[in-house]
Amino acid sequence: MQPHIHSKLPHIGTTIFTTMTNLAIQHNAVNLGQGFPDFMMSEELVSLVNEAMKNGHNQYSHMAGLPLLRERIAQKVERLYGTMIDPVTDITITPGGTYAIYTALTTVLQPGDEVIVFEPAFDSYLPNIEVNGAIPILIPLQFPSYSIDWDLVRKKITPRTKMIMLNTPHNPTGSVLSKNDIEQLRSIVHNTGIFILSDEVYEHLIFDDIEHQSILRYPDLYQRSFVCFSFGKTYNCTGWKLGYCIAPPALMNEYRKIHQFNCFSCNHPVQHALAEFMETAQHYLQLGNMLQLKRDYFQQLMAHTKFKPLPSFGSYFQLYRYDAISEESENEFAIRLTQEFGVTAIPVSVFYRKEINNKVLRFCFAKKEATLEQAAERLMKL
Ligand code: GLN
Repeated sequence: MQPHIHSKLPHIGTTIFTTMTNLAIQHNAVNLGQGFPDFMMSEELVSLVNEAMKNGHNQYSHMAGLPLLRERIAQKVERLYGTMIDPVTDITITPGGTYAIYTALTTVLQPGDEVIVFEPAFDSYLPNIEVNGAIPILIPLQFPSYSIDWDLVRKKITPRTKMIMLNTPHNPTGSVLSKNDIEQLRSIVHNTGIFILSDEVYEHLIFDDIEHQSILRYPDLYQRSFVCFSFGKTYNCTGWKLGYCIAPPALMNEYRKIHQFNCFSCNHPVQHALAEFMETAQHYLQLGNMLQLKRDYFQQLMAHTKFKPLPSFGSYFQLYRYDAISEESENEFAIRLTQEFGVTAIPVSVFYRKEINNKVLRFCFAKKEATLEQAAERLMKL
């Protein structure tokens, strides 16, 4: 007899980001699929890591993260969102934003719990919920604005609702939550046992002078929340896989029980470097403007193609409609775009559980101008 794995995720294949990046490499395509910058990160930050290594910070860091880095994060939160959080009890450094989210779900969810998830949803959310034996309750964002229908949310709340997952700025759509959304959320969770998981990895990638509606602005909501962030997105180093989660003490205490026996502690020299680099607020404050210029430049270039933009208010991404070009499904079209035209984008339908075809693709514009130009030149041929 052979050992046989009874799959915990029988319906799940390989993530679209790996699939499309492989396809892009195979066809030598301009890769506007997976969200990562193709320009250089700060050389100063790289040198700081080097220095930290030379200074001997090469052993385990504190289980919850380098204390100085956590202090700097707490200072930043107070400055940006006006809320005091305790770096000792409320912050844990994690190996990336996805891990921060997974750990929050694993901390809270029991088999049979329901989690409200808005679709399209980042592709790790559903497997992260299901691997814990919980049930995603899917609510579509309203096409094409990708806004939340809060009346529908009210209808989907049951005694088993354990958590609501939010993501602003939103991947893959670039939509953002407004103050009104927060008010609606507040009225729904008030006097309930519902937790909030807020994925804010794109907190600084927000455009047009819009204020990021972090849950950390709202102390009453924070009391029931896990708020997740990414250093990779903030400092153009997605490959470093470092992020953090902020949650009130009682929640974070349980969170650390999971974290300590999974990863224990994160890359130490990188945490030293980030603690120093974070002292200069300009390093993260400038990011929105820089990316906004890229969004606008890409839109300008894409105006010469038959693709039609949907608005992007934040994130690395903009959705483009292709209904003037093809009737194909998003998947078929995205594959053909890579194979025949040498440009890779992500079909938005992969962020839905059920088959859907709005004829929209997600393009990542966090790229060098030359990359965006090359992509647009190829897309003009359609
Ligand atoms: N967040 C990135 C994206 O949406 C990719 C992250 C990943 O590959 N897991 O493209």
